Amino acid sequence: MKWYKLSVNEVINQLGSHANFGLTEDIAAQRLKKNGSNQLTDQQKPLWFMLFFKQFQDFMVIVLLIATFIAAYLGEFIDAIVIVIIVLINSLLGFFQEQKAERSLSKLKAMATPNAFVLRNGHWVTIPSQHVVIGDIVKLKNGDRVVADMRIISSTQLAIEESALTGETLPIQKTSQAIETQQLNIADQTNMAFMGSMVATGHGIGIVVATGMQTMVGQIADLIVQAPSQKTPLEKRLQHLGKVLIFISLVLTALVVLAGVWQGQPLYQMFLAGISLAVAVIPEGLPAIVTVVLSLGVQRMIKRKAIVRKLSAVETLGSTSVICSDKTGTLTENKMTVVELFTNNKSFQVSGGYGLTGSFTNATNQVESDMLNQLLMYSSLCCNAEMLDNNGNITLQGDPTEVAIIMAALKKDQQLVEAKTLTKVKEFPFDANRKRMSVVVKDRNNHYMSIVKGAPDLLLDCTSKLTLNGQVQSLSQQMKRQIQQQIESMANQAYRTIAVCMKPLPSPHALKIEQVESQLIFMGLIGMVDPPRREAKLAIKQCKDAGIKTIMITGDHAKTASAVAKSLDIISSEQQVITGQDLEVMSEEMLKQQVDHVHVFARVTPKDKLRIVQALQANGHVVAMTGDGVNDAPALKVSDIGVSMGKTGTDVAKEASDLILLDDNFATIVGAVEEGRNIYENIRKFIRYLLASNVGEILVMLFAMLAALPLPLLPVQILWVNLVTDGLPALALGLDRPERDLMQHPPRPVKEGVFARGLGIKIVSRGLFIGVITFLAFVMAFQNGAQSVAYARTIAFMTLVMAQLIHVFDCRSHRSVFDRNPFGNKYLIIAVISSIALLLPVIYFEPLQIIFHTVALTGTDWLGILLFSALPTLLFGFTRR
Ligand code: ADP
Ligand code: MG
Repeated sequence: MKWYKLSVNEVINQLGSHANFGLTEDIAAQRLKKNGSNQLTDQQKPLWFMLFFKQFQDFMVIVLLIATFIAAYLGEFIDAIVIVIIVLINSLLGFFQEQKAERSLSKLKAMATPNAFVLRNGHWVTIPSQHVVIGDIVKLKNGDRVVADMRIISSTQLAIEESALTGETLPIQKTSQAIETQQLNIADQTNMAFMGSMVATGHGIGIVVATGMQTMVGQIADLIVQAPSQKTPLEKRLQHLGKVLIFISLVLTALVVLAGVWQGQPLYQMFLAGISLAVAVIPEGLPAIVTVVLSLGVQRMIKRKAIVRKLSAVETLGSTSVICSDKTGTLTENKMTVVELFTNNKSFQVSGGYGLTGSFTNATNQVESDMLNQLLMYSSLCCNAEMLDNNGNITLQGDPTEVAIIMAALKKDQQLVEAKTLTKVKEFPFDANRKRMSVVVKDRNNHYMSIVKGAPDLLLDCTSKLTLNGQVQSLSQQMKRQIQQQIESMANQAYRTIAVCMKPLPSPHALKIEQVESQLIFMGLIGMVDPPRREAKLAIKQCKDAGIKTIMITGDHAKTASAVAKSLDIISSEQQVITGQDLEVMSEEMLKQQVDHVHVFARVTPKDKLRIVQALQANGHVVAMTGDGVNDAPALKVSDIGVSMGKTGTDVAKEASDLILLDDNFATIVGAVEEGRNIYENIRKFIRYLLASNVGEILVMLFAMLAALPLPLLPVQILWVNLVTDGLPALALGLDRPERDLMQHPPRPVKEGVFARGLGIKIVSRGLFIGVITFLAFVMAFQNGAQSVAYARTIAFMTLVMAQLIHVFDCRSHRSVFDRNPFGNKYLIIAVISSIALLLPVIYFEPLQIIFHTVALTGTDWLGILLFSALPTLLFGFTRR
């Protein structure tokens, strides 16, 4: 279908839609059912049994299965069956964990897909992009990802970047005019917008002509390759660590086996012992638990309103040393309210707060009153925010700065917003580089004029006249100074300031932006407040304690920025503020030297943000940077943690970011950093637990072989400990709550190894003690001649497991075990109880006694076991090492 050839009306008719009403919800629902959801092919979800079989790919599991065959071949059927059962239980646990991780990740993906703003039943509503159907009328604005193929039906400076389809990176200007050509390639269809392309500037409206796989991108199959899921640096490091440990453990296992054989142990026994020991000490499951813990952490972050787009960001968050945050909307509430107007060289106060009612300081005469009204009317005209009147129920929608302006006009007189004596003919939308927006309007007599509103200090340079007492006069130096003073005084009160200017235009033809925005007539100033978020102040204090620097970055006036920064305790008194102009004359080297001492950047452009990030990174910082616009994307990509805004951010910014804030709130970033730190520490906790346990196991075997004693632990016992009773406590450690000083020490250096800060020493020393204690328990029970070897083994088995289950509490803190309430982690309590519950049948249930070669123990035995097994943890707890 050649939609570009038809006129706008033809397209709308053919698609059964209506320009001012859109589709009805009923028809939309029917079409959704008929054509399917608007997305590119569903990535095949892994089937559940595939996930289950994946568990068997592990090297460890393969080794065990081979051992099973050998055992069966030698006629040791009980051993063979037990090994199979243990492997099954282990795979089942792994399967449930991975399924959980998988689910939380796909939920995450669903949350990150863009929304669309469409006209349904006569109302503009936001819907998930998958629900868009053919015939839907969709608004496009700068920064949006185009959600389906559409024919443009209206456009204002609309330019779309289509590199995903055409390879052309320059944005293409789009209009609504029909094109009379038989054959046009995509790049020349200037009245169409295609799925996956990006609105670079301006805004417009389109009607959907194709969705999902019927779109242009849908037809180019290779574009749909999914990015492979990346392993995080920590996962990679652990994989490497795993390989090293495999090597070490194989050597140690060989040592144990050789020592055993040399001391005359039966060959088959030693073979199984070797296999079990190797399985025991190889932390094959580690990377899997890490993934599970990371993804569960991600879920916790969602509850705290932070969406992580890449798992690796969780780790980086923990190392963040600088957070660069936008002021407006992130540190402040984005509830802007006009409180002061300045016109006719006079200030007018506006009362009433955030809302539609309020009053103004009285004007002294009619001329002044007219000027005030004109200021409000013109500035509302120069806005893209809209007033929606639903049977007298008025709501405002759009950029908060503009909403504030319209709100002020409504407070004065609804007519100022509704009267249509002037019509917009052209618009140059606001952009963060120019820091202003202009419209060209015409009155009933076809007289044209431009209205410009924007950052006053910059706009004043384009101004040559002003209105005073209703008369246009040239702007004297003295008047200019007075206006500047007024701007400063507003800014000092933390007001966001806007100047409004106009000028009559002789002819509307071929208007260039330079003509529209020069030689202007100054009309007045608008000052608005935007209260700082209450949580932000606390979060900034938290950052300070945690050795994280907060930098405020804003397009606002330097004085406004510094007043807000002061009220948030980002700076004290008159600390330096660097402006965009300062940055222009600063070399990279100079910026690098200064950036460490600056906390506020004002009147910056998005390009400056990029330079700031790079300067900070050059100084070795790990930088989190917020942004919401199209132009912020480069800075978001370069920063270590790009942070975008869930509510006000553009699709482009979100795609470039690592973290999305659902509530646009600075405190949420700090919350995410806290989670990031906690997750990393928790991973260290269970690495510590698992490895110390392994060290203990291998040592007790080694000691016994060297001392020419029988095997202190049988292969099935070792397998049971490692594959069944160890996993739950490890996972519970991964879900542990943070230690109280988590946010009281500086961020972890990115390059820091897993075993840093004493973890390696702790693993070896605890492991050694667990090994020694278990060995002693075994020897004492063995030497008590009245009893069997099975009895001594049962004692050793229980001592080892109990020592581990007590030691797990030690792993919760980098300080003494007595520093934390042992009941503080309810998962751990449940895990330990479950592990014990899995253990007791093994020694008290007769059939299991036969399989595991155990005997029932008495109360006195248990007293001894508990005493022994608590010893290592108590000892280290008291010595506080
Ligand atoms: P920030 O997002 O850091 O507050 P902006 O780039 O949005 O900075 O705004 C910079 C300046 O541009 C503001 O101080 C204000 O003077 C002006 N400005 C902001 N929004 C608009 C708008 N919609 N129209 C005209 N001028 C605006
Ligand atoms: Mg802004």
